[in-house]
Amino acid sequence: MIVMKRVKLLGYEIDTFNFNSAVEYAQELMCNDKVNQVVTINPEMFTTAANDEQFSQILKDAEMVIPDGIGVKIGLKIMGENVDRIAGVDFAREMINRAAEKNMPVALIGAKPEIIEKAVINLKSEVENLNIVYSHDGYFDNWDEIYEGLKNTSPRLILVALGSPKQEKFISEARNRLNPALMIGVGGSFDVWSGVVQRAPKIYQKMGLEWLYRTLKQPERFKRIFPALPLFMLKVLRYRIGGEKC
Ligand code: UDP
Repeated sequence: MIVMKRVKLLGYEIDTFNFNSAVEYAQELMCNDKVNQVVTINPEMFTTAANDEQFSQILKDAEMVIPDGIGVKIGLKIMGENVDRIAGVDFAREMINRAAEKNMPVALIGAKPEIIEKAVINLKSEVENLNIVYSHDGYFDNWDEIYEGLKNTSPRLILVALGSPKQEKFISEARNRLNPALMIGVGGSFDVWSGVVQRAPKIYQKMGLEWLYRTLKQPERFKRIFPALPLFMLKVLRYRIGGEKC
């Protein structure tokens, strides 16, 4: 049984599930007759949405918005909701397994050329029966060419790693152009699957401190989470005290 509760955070609906229910729900979306968009949301994306009307609308229109970052989990806790955090990289990896089990073709778009190449090789060797019908690195200017490639190969699961908000915009524009598919924005997942970027050790993951590990490894990431993270928390607290206004 799929257990899902939709909760509001700063005016956006977040779908909260445990991991298995999220996968089951997404599998249903992968099998229906339209293009469906999954957003794995983190605090930086709320900040982007506050300054970008198009992106804000995309978050509202997405079929599934799941709390990826620990910041969103804490934000929801402040609003009185205790939810599981679902790491986008684990969720997307499980969707690949499901697609392979169901004989559904898969496409991967994004990351540097050598990264996507390695990720495809690794996934093919790890996942039995995986059918990758299309892949392309993420450094292209001509979106039409990529949509064309996807249209011609009709994958049912399309993972897009272009960073945010580009990947969400790329998926949103695909809605009216592609055959039915489940499309997920997966951030840095291909870097991990290529073996080039290491995931944080399990202890960091368990404690919700993956962001700290990544920031220690790549200090340039600091400017991405600061001041976005504390500002996000302050905003949520203001909402909590003043009541939801949207
Ligand atoms: N990327 C890309 N094209 C671009 C910008 C970024 O393919 O124009 C890739 C980048 O190489 C990386 C991924 O998008 O593989 C996003 O990584 P990031 O660390 O920003 O992801 P997140 O922090 O959201 O997981």
